[in-house]
Amino acid sequence: MKTLIRNPLLVTMNEQNDVVDKGSIVIDGNRITFAGPAEWTPDRPFDQIIDADRMIAMPGMVNSHCHSPANLVRGMMPSKPLEIWRAYYRASLRDMRDDDFYASALLGGMEMLKNGATTVLDHFAGNPSCRFMGAGAAIHAMRDLGLRHVASLTVTDKNYEDTIPLGQADASLHDEIKRMSANEAKTTQAWLDDCEAFIDAFHDPEKLTTACPGPSAVQRCTDELLKGCAAISRKRRLPLHLHLAETKAQQVQGDSIYGHSLLQHLDALGIVGKNLSCAHSIWIEDNDVELFAQRGATPVHNPASNLRIGSGLAKVKELLAAGVPVALGTDGAASNDGQNMFDAVRLSALIHNQAGSDFNQWVTPAQALAMATRNGARAFGLDAGMIAPGKLADIVLLRRDTPAYRPLNDVVNQIAFCENGSNVDTVIVNGEIVVQGGRLTKVDEMEVLRLAEQSRARLEPSIQRELGAARSMEPALAEMYFRVFGK
Ligand SMILES: [Zn+2]
Repeated sequence: MKTLIRNPLLVTMNEQNDVVDKGSIVIDGNRITFAGPAEWTPDRPFDQIIDADRMIAMPGMVNSHCHSPANLVRGMMPSKPLEIWRAYYRASLRDMRDDDFYASALLGGMEMLKNGATTVLDHFAGNPSCRFMGAGAAIHAMRDLGLRHVASLTVTDKNYEDTIPLGQADASLHDEIKRMSANEAKTTQAWLDDCEAFIDAFHDPEKLTTACPGPSAVQRCTDELLKGCAAISRKRRLPLHLHLAETKAQQVQGDSIYGHSLLQHLDALGIVGKNLSCAHSIWIEDNDVELFAQRGATPVHNPASNLRIGSGLAKVKELLAAGVPVALGTDGAASNDGQNMFDAVRLSALIHNQAGSDFNQWVTPAQALAMATRNGARAFGLDAGMIAPGKLADIVLLRRDTPAYRPLNDVVNQIAFCENGSNVDTVIVNGEIVVQGGRLTKVDEMEVLRLAEQSRARLEPSIQRELGAARSMEPALAEMYFRVFGK
């Protein structure tokens, strides 16, 4: 199948950020075979021609960190620090089963595709009583939508209460925290076996799935588990994804366990390399910036989530200045409430102007867009993230006869600052049109909403019960938070 996208304003997001006024893109199968000025288009018959005269073509975005089970609880979680927020969020997962994980991934995936993301990393933690915690159901949802995905199975073999600097709180609160996290942890070997079986069952790039291990966070895993996951990723040439230094409490805990930063600990284990991506990376040390640069690992910035639960401002400016290819994510809808990557682009191009006086380091719109496209693809070893010959055909067409782009002054700046997803017309993933005229082509959108509401209604009693338990833990967690900040 050969497709010609005729005459778009072509925003390539290649290393030079080339823009071609009247461009042309040729797709053969699932790859781009030509991208350049229209007059250079190879002369041959096409099976399909997409008239993009009044469109902007840009590469599909890569949402480099989220948690698909969270889509059913958007708008529901309190704006409180991660350690408190997490008790509430975990409560919402407790009774979810495969149907619910499917519905939740479908809902978030629909939102992503309709807003120009063509790949997502799903750092999946669900219900331990389901096979692979329910991750298989989420993968089926993303395959049904035609959304490329990196499914990273979240593993942890430490008791949660041992991974945060809880004080001498009431013993009954410790008991409650233990109850809530009791079945999250398995033995190290059981998790490693699960990772291997999960990858065997689902890794299939032809079906849009990259499957890989996803240690929950450095301090939540034994060294043996971290090294075991890294060995699996290395052996199978897969990504490795984890949470890193999201909060000050984690940094404090990391220092007390390891005597140096969490990233330095990972490096001492020999697992900081090009295939490693680290969500958040907020509470890192100056040396860590250098370490990211030297090893080629990728920090993943999640600006909306970091603001929503007050985690802090990531050192994105310092990382970019050091040449680190920072990627960008939404994080889960429990700490963001949406899955719109244009929102992440805009925030990342805005919020860093508030910190520090060196305006030369402010994140530019082009940098924000690179974070959302080629940097994310690079993080996961995907041949995507730019419109160039040889790349996977993951392409978004934006309508340009809209207030966002008329008058047209600077297309890259206008995508970063003016686009909110409402101009997305066509989305192509792996050479297939999955959004046309702003609507999904492979799945009935009303059915997605119906399934999501059905799951949410069924979960209501368990969510209310578990939220009550989470509330009882809040004082101990709040004490810890204020102690860590010395207040
Ligand atoms: Zn996360």
